[in-house]
Amino acid sequence: MQDSELLNLDRQHLWHPYSSFTNPPPVYPVASAEGVTITLTDGRQLIDGMSSWWSVLHGYNHPALNAAAKAQLDQVSHVMFGGFTHAPAVTLAKKLVDVTPVGLNRVFLADSGSVSVEVALKMALQYWRSCGKPEKHRMLALRNGYHGDTFGAMAVCDPVTGMHHLFADVMPQHLFAPSPAARFGEPCTADDLADIRALIEQHHHELAAVILEPIVQGAGGMKFYSADYLKAVRDLCDQYGVLLIADEIATGFGRTGKLFACEHAGISPDILCLGKGLTGGYMTLAATLCNDEVARGICEGEAGVFMHGPTFMGNPLACAVANASIDVLLSQDWQAVVKRIETGLTQGLAPASDLPGVAEVRVLGTIGVVEMQQPVQMAVIQKAFVDKGIWVRPFGKLIYVMPPLVITDAQLEKLTTAMIEVIAGVA
Ligand SMILES: *Cc1c(COP(=O)(O)O)cnc(C)c1O
Repeated sequence: MQDSELLNLDRQHLWHPYSSFTNPPPVYPVASAEGVTITLTDGRQLIDGMSSWWSVLHGYNHPALNAAAKAQLDQVSHVMFGGFTHAPAVTLAKKLVDVTPVGLNRVFLADSGSVSVEVALKMALQYWRSCGKPEKHRMLALRNGYHGDTFGAMAVCDPVTGMHHLFADVMPQHLFAPSPAARFGEPCTADDLADIRALIEQHHHELAAVILEPIVQGAGGMKFYSADYLKAVRDLCDQYGVLLIADEIATGFGRTGKLFACEHAGISPDILCLGKGLTGGYMTLAATLCNDEVARGICEGEAGVFMHGPTFMGNPLACAVANASIDVLLSQDWQAVVKRIETGLTQGLAPASDLPGVAEVRVLGTIGVVEMQQPVQMAVIQKAFVDKGIWVRPFGKLIYVMPPLVITDAQLEKLTTAMIEVIAGVA
C-alpha cells in the first residue's frame, strides 16, 4: 500500500490514542524497527526515546525474544486457561514470584495494564467482602496518578487530567490525597504526610485499599517522590487495616534503578500490578500479584472464587516472550546498564536547565524528564523531533524519555542533543 493511501484510510477509519477524527493529529507510518531504531516507510530512521510507552525494554526485533515467540508459535499460540495450564504460564508465575517483593505469591495473568488494575481493585473489594466488611469499598488514590483507561482504573486516576467530569455520573467516587510533596532522595516530614494520614484516619472504615504508583508518578506528571513517603503509607495501611496496591506497570523491570520501585522503600504491597515491559514490549500481557492473605480471604469468602477470567488469560505466546524478556534482563548487569543510561541522560539533558521556558530537568534510572513552564504544541514539537531523527512524544508540559536498555552511549548522546536543540528552538 502506498503511504498516501495508507494515511488516507487511517484517517477515515482508525482511532489513535486520545485522538479526534475531526482534527486528526499527524501519524507517521512505520515500516520496521531494530534495536532502538524505528524505520519509517519513507526510509527515515528514528532513535526511539519512548520504548513505545515504557514497554520495549530490550529494543525491537531482539533475537532472544524473537526466538521465544517463534518456538512457542510452533507449540501452541493460544489455549483457554479455564481447565488447562501450560509451561509458559507456570514458568512466568514462578519467575514473577521470585523477583517481585517478598510475599506476593499468587499471580493473576491479565491482558493489559488497565485490566490488571481492574483485577487488583476487584481483589481488594472481594477480600473485604469476604472478611465481612463490605462497607470497605472505596479506594484512596493520589492526585497526579495514572492507572489506566477502563472504568475502574480511570476512577482512581487524577480527577482533573483523567477528565472525571466527563463520566462523573457513572463512575465510582473515590478519595484523593495530594501528590506527594517530598522529592525522591529527600526525607518526608510529618507535614508531607498530614493529608494522607488524615484521609486514612477519617475513612479507614470505608477504605478497601490505597492505590499508588510507587516512587514515579508516570503519565499523570512524571514526578519522582520520596521513598519515605511510600514507606509511611505502607505503615499507615498496616496501622488502619487498609490494603496497599502498588501499580508498577510503568516502573517495573528496572526502570527506576531497582527491579521494582517498591524496593526503594523496602516494602511489599498486598497487591502488585505489572504490565508494559513485561513482554519486552512484544505483545500485550499484564499480571496482578497478591499475597497469601488476600488470596485466602477471597477464596474463603461468599463467592469462594475470584470473579475474573479473561479469554486470553495466560496467553502462551505472550508468556513465552515474557519469560525470555525477564531472562534477558537478569542475565546482564542491568543495574550497571541503568546507571549508564542515568548518567547519559543526566549529562545530556543538563543544558536544558538553562534554556528559556524550561521549568525543571530531572532524571531517575532510565527516565529523563524536561518539564516546561507551558504546555508544548504536540504536533509541532513532534515533527521537530522526527526531523532530527528521534522519537519523543511529549504530553502537556512534559518532554520525557525512557529509552530501551540496549541504547548505546552514542545513540543516547544523539537523543539528548536533538532534544536540547528542539527545546531551544521552541522556547
Ligand atoms: C500504562 C499504565 C497503565 C495502563 O496500562 P494499559 O496497558 O495501557 O492498559 C496503568 N498504570 C500505569 C502506571 C501505567 O503506566
